[in-house]
Amino acid sequence: HSGFVAIIGRPNVGKSTFINHVIGQKIAIMSDKPQTTRNKIQGIYTTDESQIIFIDTPGIHKPQSKLGDFMVDSALSTLNEVDAVLFMVNATQKRGKGDDFIIKRLQNVKKPIYLVINKIDQVHPDDLLPIVDDYRQTLEFQEVYPISALKGNNVSELVNNLVTDL
Ligand code: GDP
Ligand code: MG
Repeated sequence: HSGFVAIIGRPNVGKSTFINHVIGQKIAIMSDKPQTTRNKIQGIYTTDESQIIFIDTPGIHKPQSKLGDFMVDSALSTLNEVDAVLFMVNATQKRGKGDDFIIKRLQNVKKPIYLVINKIDQVHPDDLLPIVDDYRQTLEFQEVYPISALKGNNVSELVNNLVTDL
């Protein structure tokens, strides 16, 4: 039960918060500003029987510059080197161009993709199902996890199942 897991998602969906929560240390760089995480910073989750190496991708977005192109390519190349991908979205925002940009790239990735719907502490439970349905129409997901990376809701369930699948 070990492997590499990439986390991909629009800026500010909570990728760094998630890694920090799972690893329990301030490893990923956190900020309200997009793209603080400029490198593939790895957090390693280890138990007696398992090890997951998390890779926090740079804030992916529609490229508008050469630097943007490079960062997006770098994030995308990571996806083909890992064992599983966590695609994180924000439960408090409608699916937007930034999400669709990532979805389009994920369609070529032949690895298990987990949909992680973050910030559920800020939405009514009734509002979750339409979000799940909406994303399910765009990609085939191995599993869907509504979580709060900030409060920790459902995070250990996600990690435990991920470990089992690896
Ligand atoms: P990243 O750009 O995807 O790495 O996002 P960050 O982890 O830096 O988080 C961006 C902002 O969202 C920060 O202010 C976090 O505190 C906040 N945030 C992250 N996860 C949650 C969550 O589950 N609930 C709430 N309410 N805020 C969150
Ligand atoms: Mg980050």
